[in-house]
Amino acid sequence: MEKLTIDDLQLKDKRVLVRVDFNVPLDKKCEVTDDRRIVESLPTINKILQDGGKLILMSHLGRPKGRTQELSLLPVAKRLEKLLGKPVKFVNDCIGPEVEKAVSGLKSGECLLLENLRFYPEEEKNNPEFAKKLAGLGDIYINDAFGTAHRAHASTEGVTKYIQQCAAGYLMQKELKYLDMALSHPKRPFVAILGGAKISGKIDVIENLMNKVDALLIGGGMSFTFFKSMGKEIGKSLLEPDKIDMAKEILKQAKEKKVNLVLPVDVVVAAGATDDAATKIVGIDNIPPDMQGLDIGPKTLDIFSAELKKAKTVVWNGPMGVFEVKKFATGTIRVAEILAGITQNGATTIVGGGDSAAAVTQAGLEDKLTHISTGGGASLEFLEGKVLPGVAALTDK
Ligand code: AMP
Repeated sequence: MEKLTIDDLQLKDKRVLVRVDFNVPLDKKCEVTDDRRIVESLPTINKILQDGGKLILMSHLGRPKGRTQELSLLPVAKRLEKLLGKPVKFVNDCIGPEVEKAVSGLKSGECLLLENLRFYPEEEKNNPEFAKKLAGLGDIYINDAFGTAHRAHASTEGVTKYIQQCAAGYLMQKELKYLDMALSHPKRPFVAILGGAKISGKIDVIENLMNKVDALLIGGGMSFTFFKSMGKEIGKSLLEPDKIDMAKEILKQAKEKKVNLVLPVDVVVAAGATDDAATKIVGIDNIPPDMQGLDIGPKTLDIFSAELKKAKTVVWNGPMGVFEVKKFATGTIRVAEILAGITQNGATTIVGGGDSAAAVTQAGLEDKLTHISTGGGASLEFLEGKVLPGVAALTDK
């Protein structure tokens, strides 16, 4: 890595300010329902505590409009305390006198979590004054929040202007290692499988990956805009009318570049995405006008499976259908199972966070794939070939 990493730093007795991504889902009782992002931060946290650093953790949670109890990080502090098996101090703010007092009272090997950074709009605005106040809390800065690295916010970018040593934590390094390996020097065949609702968020990914992969498999709602651009009847399936030309252009480019772009050959259709809906499997030339495609069909799965089984590196982003409804989850779950199988046979499989990561967890396969990213948006931007501002801002080695 060209940037400083946590292993380059002397942590003992230092105030170590760490940006983590503790943006975890909470239920109505404000209990953490999925602690994967917290668990993934533990190697960095444990290293700092074991080395005798004074650990100050900061994160955002959700999208608060001002201060709100529902989006307090206090439940996260409690979950972290359980996972660590040692006390985690919590302070009701992220800047100001109370925070400064808590930080100055922190002993080496102790841990403090600050309140939700986004209670201040200055965080997302990358306000220099706010960033400076955050920076004043630490002697050194570590960014382990891969999931927020695509945003130039005060705690991810602004803060680095006021601290001399800014380094990547272990999770950040791990995320970058796998994604970079896939993009820069994948073992071939390299196959990307993309799905999800919309082409719009993934056009740049498709264009960037097209130059790198041996096969590009496309499923999910976004395949229908491609079909529409080919003049097919797609019934009531998801369509982005303003992206039809773009879809046509992508198909043309794929042909010119001789990219193996594979679209579904059959789909599961129904009148709507409900568990009691009557479904049938049809070829993509036979979608009834009053129905919508909600999952990939069995023939498509066979074709995708054959491509994936040849692969040595796979990147997956986006579900193959409306996987939140059991009836339409088969394609997505099967992809997760196929990836688990090829991982066992030595392939490197990388899941780009978000819904596909949720699907892998739903299938109980989170330990069977090589790497599941904690950052949906960040990994997409990385796959687009963009520089992540939170990474670029770290100190060069
Ligand atoms: P994205 O955020 O673009 O990755 O989209 C994820 C969403 O796409 C999930 O909520 C899925 O339910 C939805 N999705 C996937 N396939 C379809 C489909 N065929 N029709 C409608 N929605 C879909």
